Amino acid sequence: MKNETEQLLSYIESNIARTLADCTTCGKCFDACPMTQYSDKLTGKTGGQVVTGIRALLAGETATTEALEWTRLCTQSARCVPACPEKVNPMLMMRLARITALGSTGGPALMADGKRDPNFFRRINAFSALQFSDAEVAAWQR
Ligand code: SF4
Repeated sequence: MKNETEQLLSYIESNIARTLADCTTCGKCFDACPMTQYSDKLTGKTGGQVVTGIRALLAGETATTEALEWTRLCTQSARCVPACPEKVNPMLMMRLARITALGSTGGPALMADGKRDPNFFRRINAFSALQFSDAEVAAWQR
């Protein structure tokens, strides 16, 4: 019988396998993402390019700079979920990408966790701007 860690890794592996099987790299999830505008590293990149890098990361292959950047920026806004024509659940795909990039599945750590990210608070500001009105943000920052 598997212990809790083994069960979790098994869950992660099965969802990565399902994502790799179903994702066609159409890039519609990336196009729907509200966070991509906050990084120069993603300027001019197509959704297909970036998601191809995400797939490589999930498959344990070389992760591209733009795939790691999108993974770092993701705030789990969920706007990608209805955009996916294949019902992949791109939000889960990005969570799996983050888990993988952090080295939590046994591979090398390719990015710092959120607390060590020098842009952590900029990401919070960006996320709050997506969720709240200007008046609510102003009241919150008082
Ligand atoms: S996760 Fe869905 S929307 Fe994103 S690239 Fe794959 S198939 Fe397209």
